[in-house]
Amino acid sequence: MKIQNFINGQFHDPILNNWLDNYCPANGEVYGQTPNSSRIDVENAYIAAQSAFPSWSQTSFEERSKILIKISELLETNLQRFAEAESKDNGKPVNLAKTIDIPRAASNFSFFGNAITQFASESHESVGHQAINYTLRQPLGVVGCISPWNLPLYLFTWKIAPALATGNCVIAKPSEITPLTAYLLGELCNVAGLPSGVLNIVHGSGATTGQAIIEHPNIKAISFTGGTKTGAHIAKIAAPMFKKLSLELGGKNPNIIFADCDYHDMLDTTIQSSFNNQGQICLCGSRIFVQSSIYYKFKNDFVHRVKQLRVGHPSKKDSQIGALVSKSHLEKVLQYIKISQQEGGNILCGGSKVAVKGFENGYYLEPTVIEVATNACTINQEEVFGPVVTMMPFNSEDEVLRMANNVKYGLSATIWTNDLKRTMRLSDQIQAGIVWVNTWMMRDLRTPFGGSKASGLGREGGFEVLRFFTEPKNVCIKY
Ligand code: NAP
Repeated sequence: MKIQNFINGQFHDPILNNWLDNYCPANGEVYGQTPNSSRIDVENAYIAAQSAFPSWSQTSFEERSKILIKISELLETNLQRFAEAESKDNGKPVNLAKTIDIPRAASNFSFFGNAITQFASESHESVGHQAINYTLRQPLGVVGCISPWNLPLYLFTWKIAPALATGNCVIAKPSEITPLTAYLLGELCNVAGLPSGVLNIVHGSGATTGQAIIEHPNIKAISFTGGTKTGAHIAKIAAPMFKKLSLELGGKNPNIIFADCDYHDMLDTTIQSSFNNQGQICLCGSRIFVQSSIYYKFKNDFVHRVKQLRVGHPSKKDSQIGALVSKSHLEKVLQYIKISQQEGGNILCGGSKVAVKGFENGYYLEPTVIEVATNACTINQEEVFGPVVTMMPFNSEDEVLRMANNVKYGLSATIWTNDLKRTMRLSDQIQAGIVWVNTWMMRDLRTPFGGSKASGLGREGGFEVLRFFTEPKNVCIKY
């Protein structure tokens, strides 16, 4: 299978004819090729986007909204095809792609298609000066959207939809590891009537294609989701050109469990927050802290449940854990497990590759739970981004708060308790962009989404992202 760039509403091979292999994580085999696009392809995408901008930026919001909602409907109609493609590229269970990834990609389009009809700017009457100020919210121009491999279409569309809704033209690059659903999206955009050049999808590696996007002098903003190291690199290149930047980066999120919580609810959700999507979600609660009075009970119950999780081929209905995204990522995760053992971590379950019958070359790993003695250990300080969680007990609220915050990241946190005052105290003091209490990953697309510290810069979601993709201009009229 050959994936192509989507530029000016048409599918193209890369001009220099450079290609990358695409692997299917479930069996380790190459299933196709994707372009490794050069600067020339990015420039062609830019020319198409720039030409489309005058008309798209002046298109009424009703019309933009109608097109975005149409794309959403087409995604829903093509749910099965997109879910299978996502699973083939990423290794996640088809079931998961069908219930989470693709429905959410569809919601991203319908949500921002609706949100733009409600987006308003401010006006200020300067009483006593006979003047009125109002704010125009103008699209930025051509913007770049770069997304990772863990939730491929979900995160790709989370950027593209608000960028398009606000009247920008887009050059978007999915991860080279998972380009398939982004490729399929181009066709749906044409069917939905998105004018040519408004959205351009350029495939390739970060170092080649991504680099060409972030270095392009006329791309006005970069919306990026990915690793903290890549985010820092992008900021270094983009900041001197005064590009607007939105950076959604890594996490090492605490999951704090108090003895007074609803135990069964907590246990069920903690399985999800630890291992959903093979633990490859930036929001996973990879550091579990448990109040010492229930530590041994939790340890036994949790490990018992984790051992029951079924690792298997992603297309099988009963597979709860699929394959990791790539061979190199699997090796990286195994390396972290080894480091943890060397530092005294006690593996309570998992820790090894799984040979799934008939798919022995797939990138499967047992869900792994490691008991650690200190939050200072490497595996509690660095993002693993795989099906690996650590656990340790705590005695007091102060102690657990210190440990929760003692990490360079600040993306999300989960707290399990029925004590309202404690909830309020901890939510206030935890250094994170998102705090979930007695739940995990419950998303309302109107809320600000993003992290603090090394987890990023800016917020996506709701009106926050519509503000990001527009430039405010104040007009003062004296009457
Ligand atoms: P990554 O290696 O940083 O890559 C992310 C994207 O950036 C990919 O499209 C990548 O391209 C591209 N890229 C790499 N180098 C680049 C460069 N020099 N210039 C421009 N683009 C470049 O991250 P990943 O491994 O795909 O994703 C995992 C990370 O994403 C984890 O740290 C996770 O926590 C984070 N994440 C954060 C959020 C959030 O909302 N905060 C959500 C999901 C994931 P290639 O892949 O093609 O090289």
